[in-house]
Amino acid sequence: MTNDGWLEIRENLRKQVGKDNYLTWIEPLKLSNLRNGVASFAVPTNFFGNWVSRNFADKILLQLHRSGADVERLEFTPEHATAAQPARAVNAQPVETANKRPTREDDVPGAPLDSRFTFDSFVVGKPNELAHAAARRVAEGGPVTFNPLFLYGGVGLGKTHLMHAIAHELQTRQPDLRVLYLSAEQFMYRFVQALRERQVMDFKELFRSVDVLMVDDVQFIAGKDSTQEEFFHTFNALVDQNKQIIISADRAPGEIKGLEERIKSRLQCGLVVDLHPTDYELRLGILQQKAEFYHTQYRDLAIAPGVLEFLAHRISTNVRVLEGALTRLFAFASLVGREITLDLTQDCLADILRASDRKITIEEIQRKVAEHFNIRLSDMIGPKRVRTIARPRQIAMYLSKALTSRSLPDIGRRFGGRDHTTIMHGVRKIEELLTSDSQLSDDLQILKRLLQS
Ligand code: ADP
Ligand code: MG
Repeated sequence: MTNDGWLEIRENLRKQVGKDNYLTWIEPLKLSNLRNGVASFAVPTNFFGNWVSRNFADKILLQLHRSGADVERLEFTPEHATAAQPARAVNAQPVETANKRPTREDDVPGAPLDSRFTFDSFVVGKPNELAHAAARRVAEGGPVTFNPLFLYGGVGLGKTHLMHAIAHELQTRQPDLRVLYLSAEQFMYRFVQALRERQVMDFKELFRSVDVLMVDDVQFIAGKDSTQEEFFHTFNALVDQNKQIIISADRAPGEIKGLEERIKSRLQCGLVVDLHPTDYELRLGILQQKAEFYHTQYRDLAIAPGVLEFLAHRISTNVRVLEGALTRLFAFASLVGREITLDLTQDCLADILRASDRKITIEEIQRKVAEHFNIRLSDMIGPKRVRTIARPRQIAMYLSKALTSRSLPDIGRRFGGRDHTTIMHGVRKIEELLTSDSQLSDDLQILKRLLQS
């Protein structure tokens, strides 16, 4: 089947499912191939594939048959990991088609809370102390002071953990409070379901009757127009009743593309706090806490000094990866019945360590330094000797020595074929200046952070 053929089928489907459903569920489908009776579609997420498979598979199959295609089965494969679910998407299996009805689990009002995500198990450090304090305040359940509380930050930095912690705490303090937690994806799912089953009034009523509404990963509704619209109304209705709303997203409200301006500005009305990338101390703190927990599980497993420090140092991505590493480490060590040493750690986690081992290149250093000092990249390797160019060049030499494992002659070659003694001179010059020039040391700190992030 040609792509045009699929476009024609889509047109027919539009008439069958209506404009809203079409735009949300059918248009994003990409027919990637049709072979041996299987039509494969690329879909944005696993969830998306499941939903389309459950609700539109028969219609799609019918239209494919009508167009003369020989298809028995549809297959939906997530295109790539979404921010919210990397682990699942990485291992994503194609979603098998089954023409079954939606399962009843979809009827429970909120998403289940993870009992491990409490304030007790949340390790506080510099990068998350503000978010943590704000979450604590909201969890006290006193008069609503900021509405909404908007938490944002990168993947695996603890947004969902904090939201669940708030919900647990509120429910412990005030068991009668109606706290509704769900992801924006689930919000959309329920809304679309209500539309389809003509139960929009019930939907509205349910959402307007809660005392606290928490919507996780709200960036998901960007670009989904009717869902946004409904979210906006729900949001306003609750704010008008002075009900607490807590929202999370992977970025600040103003930076979510495809989100209506009026929604952005409503989201900014309350308190907006971000979770910063973890630092070494926080990572170590989290590892120590988890290791303590594992010790209660695997009693006789010893962990050699320095292992946790090594991991905190080497795995600087998100906390989820860090946790996964530790889980695997303990499981492995208990299987082989050995102490967790540095050697064992390096063996057992080689893949994770390699993936986190981002190599900084000399080219990257030259580019960042040139940008920072506003000079041309070509001047980094060129012959100019004026101070405004020579100094940044020496800084780049210094950083190349400090942050890469390249030898001096090697670095020299990448600085326009300079001799290794020139590089050594540059490195020494910067080391010398560093003892007295605080501006220089600030510059270097910024550059190092940029390069190592
Ligand atoms: P996000 O929602 O921001 O993507 P999560 O809240 O799902 O991240 O956190 C990912 C994992 O890391 C969870 O298992 C969570 O418990 C853990 N985690 C994140 N931050 C912390 C922290 N400060 N202390 C303890 N565990 C944390
Ligand atoms: Mg999350």
